[in-house]
Amino acid sequence: MALKIEDYNTNVRNTWCPGCGNFGIHMALKQALVDLKKTPSDIVLTFDIGCNGNGVDDIEGFRFKGLHGRSIPLAVGAHLANRKMTVISDIGDGGLLHEGVDHLIHAIRSNYDITLLIHNNQNFALTTGQATSTTKEEKPMYAFPDGKAEGSINIGELVLSLNPTFFARGYSGEPQQLADIIKEGIKHKGFSVIEIMQVCPTYTPESNHEWFKERIKETERKATISEAVKCVKDMDIIYTGVIYQNKNLLDYYSRLENRKGKKTELVNEVKNIDIKGILNIFE
Ligand code: SF4
Repeated sequence: MALKIEDYNTNVRNTWCPGCGNFGIHMALKQALVDLKKTPSDIVLTFDIGCNGNGVDDIEGFRFKGLHGRSIPLAVGAHLANRKMTVISDIGDGGLLHEGVDHLIHAIRSNYDITLLIHNNQNFALTTGQATSTTKEEKPMYAFPDGKAEGSINIGELVLSLNPTFFARGYSGEPQQLADIIKEGIKHKGFSVIEIMQVCPTYTPESNHEWFKERIKETERKATISEAVKCVKDMDIIYTGVIYQNKNLLDYYSRLENRKGKKTELVNEVKNIDIKGILNIFE
């Protein structure tokens, strides 16, 4: 029987606000998986805490929810244990750029064969709208009623400064284009970073669909990192599409000498070991 989007739906009612960009993101993700003929039993999805993280209940697949900012290490563990699975790590801008930024850096450096979806809604939404590194500096938020006292981080610039093998940007209001981008990310053999500009009508209502539609522009992929950096720096025009890809760098697992020629996955090599003898030493 042909795979359908409904095969990815769950019977749990999600808690997202009406008009939330997470609806478009999940629609795009499910469409991408169906187009790639991936069934829910082919997929591992890892989430952290946040409105994005509540999406763990909204999609079928092997799902894990971890601590805030820790979606990437969960995904890395799942991927290294069994490379037959398609592993997707899902995170928000708050979790990624605050608690989780170390994991982002090392996952890019390691080039694990995982796809990272970043829901950039420009705030910590689940905890009622505090400023993150991507919140506009002049915007009043809870805890910063006069605008945030800290600087900002441009996700594209940060990622591209780390020599990634794949960086793309999508928009929650263009789910068809986003589905195509996610497909490219999953097919890429390496760490694929996809920043998704997400509307959050509750806490960043000024960045609504009208605001994005005036700025979003599709672009072609760039030949060099410096061209890609120029492209993502400008936030007056928000360029979307696969912006940079390097197919020449091997992914992490392919560079492991001690795994070369192995036919099994690590998950098949787990053994039960009786450690009673070792514990007796401490008695
Ligand atoms: Fe979506 Fe914002 Fe509501 Fe969270 S607070 S569910 S991100 S609209």
